[in-house]
Amino acid sequence: MLAPMRRVLIKLSGEALAGERGHGLDEQVLAFVGRQLVPLRERGVQLGIVVGGGNFMRGVSSAASGVDRVRADHAGMLATVINALMLADALSRAGLPATVFSAVAMSTVAETFTTRAADARLCAGDICIFGGGTGHPFFSTDTAAALRAAEIGADLLIKATQVDGVYSADPKKDPDAQRFSRISFDEVLARRLGVMDMTAFSLCRERKLPVVVLAFDEVDVLRRLLDGEDVGTWVHP
Ligand code: UDP
Repeated sequence: MLAPMRRVLIKLSGEALAGERGHGLDEQVLAFVGRQLVPLRERGVQLGIVVGGGNFMRGVSSAASGVDRVRADHAGMLATVINALMLADALSRAGLPATVFSAVAMSTVAETFTTRAADARLCAGDICIFGGGTGHPFFSTDTAAALRAAEIGADLLIKATQVDGVYSADPKKDPDAQRFSRISFDEVLARRLGVMDMTAFSLCRERKLPVVVLAFDEVDVLRRLLDGEDVGTWVHP
């Protein structure tokens, strides 16, 4: 059993919400996300979620085909707000009250993010969904996740991906690749392993904020994590 956690921040990529199609949103996946979160709620963990937008739009890809990068990133940030709204709706329908905050001001659509407002909603028991990334171009939602985790004083950042942890090599290419159960920030750097982008990684390392990388499509993965089972990879200070 893990030591009790007060607050956890989960980073969900846009692709994780898209299901098999890899694009757009899948209602069944949104409902599945709600079911995965229940064990955390039952144990009284306050929950923040940063959503990506890659299922609709990625600034870098559009910029590569000639779109102005700043404009493309603005569109990417808006895509994350679409995901945040739809996820909040699915969670609320499943009996999990959720508030959407946006880093990009759009007061008729979502609350503008402030640490104080998010803190109040978390204390009131809402799941806080943070859209709009950091609110600035040239950043990623991984960085937004590290930032929000630091701002709300999370005990843990869970990076929910399609891969079940951090491997010594690409498991799709190298049959001898080994999954790490635990690895330090320094060892990740020394081995040049990809956990998250450098800006996000540096912030977590500096704040001594542990990160767990896990496969979110594994049924009960969060409950098993809380029960202390060997799921994913713990990246620790
Ligand atoms: N984005 C941005 N600033 C941020 C976060 C995101 O400009 O702080 C834009 C960027 O264009 C990015 C897109 O939003 O490609 C979607 O985010 P991301 O690629 O991180 O989503 P994910 O891969 O997690 O689905």
